[in-house]
Amino acid sequence: MVSSRKWYPYHCGVKQLEYRMLGQTGLRVSALSFGASPLGGVFGPVDTAECLQAVHKAVDLGINFFDVSPYYGLTRAEEVLGEALLGLRSQVILATKAGRLTEDRFDFSRRGLMRSVEESLRRLRTDYVDILQLHDIEFGTPDEVLGEAYQTLLELKVQGKCRFVGMTGYPLSVLRHALEQCRLDVVLSYCHCNLTNTLLKTWLLPVAAEKGTGMINASVTAMGLLTQKGPPPWHPAPPILRECCRQAAAYCRERGVDIAALSLQFAYRQEGIDTMLVGMSKVRHVESNIAAIEQEPDEEILAAVQRILQPGRDQVWPSGREAEWPAAAYYRG
Ligand code: NAD
Repeated sequence: MVSSRKWYPYHCGVKQLEYRMLGQTGLRVSALSFGASPLGGVFGPVDTAECLQAVHKAVDLGINFFDVSPYYGLTRAEEVLGEALLGLRSQVILATKAGRLTEDRFDFSRRGLMRSVEESLRRLRTDYVDILQLHDIEFGTPDEVLGEAYQTLLELKVQGKCRFVGMTGYPLSVLRHALEQCRLDVVLSYCHCNLTNTLLKTWLLPVAAEKGTGMINASVTAMGLLTQKGPPPWHPAPPILRECCRQAAAYCRERGVDIAALSLQFAYRQEGIDTMLVGMSKVRHVESNIAAIEQEPDEEILAAVQRILQPGRDQVWPSGREAEWPAAAYYRG
């Protein structure tokens, strides 16, 4: 029974997970956290029963931070996560987002955000989330995001709908500008601190550290690029980066090494990151990912993989309306 689950992180021969403070929030989050976008079928079809088991396994093994959004699977991921966390809500730190509705529909207005949060709370079967973030802010204008949307986040915090607030997005220039303009408890960056690039450490981490903002590093397999299965069809990476990752995965496969595990080992050891989010929907991935970070990477394989990835290093892709943001593209030099 889910409700009788105990909060002892350790079975299955797994050692204690590491926990870190998330900025100045006072939240103690597992260094490996659960990205729930795959629960919405974002990376391919999923079996709901298996998704529920994956969440339960993660909780059993000590993962205590779960990140979701109404956008993932067009509300499906929130529905599934809400069901999975029935009876477990008080044991986890729950984060969702607002502002992004679909692939191309965004609503950063006060009314839209308020409605979105109410709907998320209903799907997640809770009356508050620990963290609420504006989702993919580069798709809004600086005025709407840093003005009305940010003020709405603060209002929702005062109302108790969320305990902490933050913003997420892809272009580091946009996130950095937002961090400089607003008081954010957390910031979520994705695909910018993994085996293919560590641009996050140069362009965002110093500002986050100075402000005491919690740093969440998402997509450490680069949204599937650094897995044996490879990326989903919608992946925005440029061809050179895809090709390097394909070669690196083949190199690892020939040597019996799981490139996903290597990616996690690499990201886990980057300093200054409070937690790394990995998208999971399968029990075996939860188990193998926890097992992976406990082991040191094979330095020889790691060096060889980094050489293979070199031609695609630091390759980024355009996202949203980043050109309309004041600091557009400055991190590209
Ligand atoms: P990811 O790099 O974590 O990759 C997820 C993919 O890797 C899925 O297909 C998953 O099945 C697979 N995978 C995980 N462990 C594996 C293993 N051991 N072996 C093989 N495959 C494995 O990308 P992601 O899911 O996009 O990012 C993690 C989370 O971060 C998301 O689920 C989401 O919660 C968050 N995120 C947020 C934003 C945003 O706010 N804009 C963007 C990206 C990610």
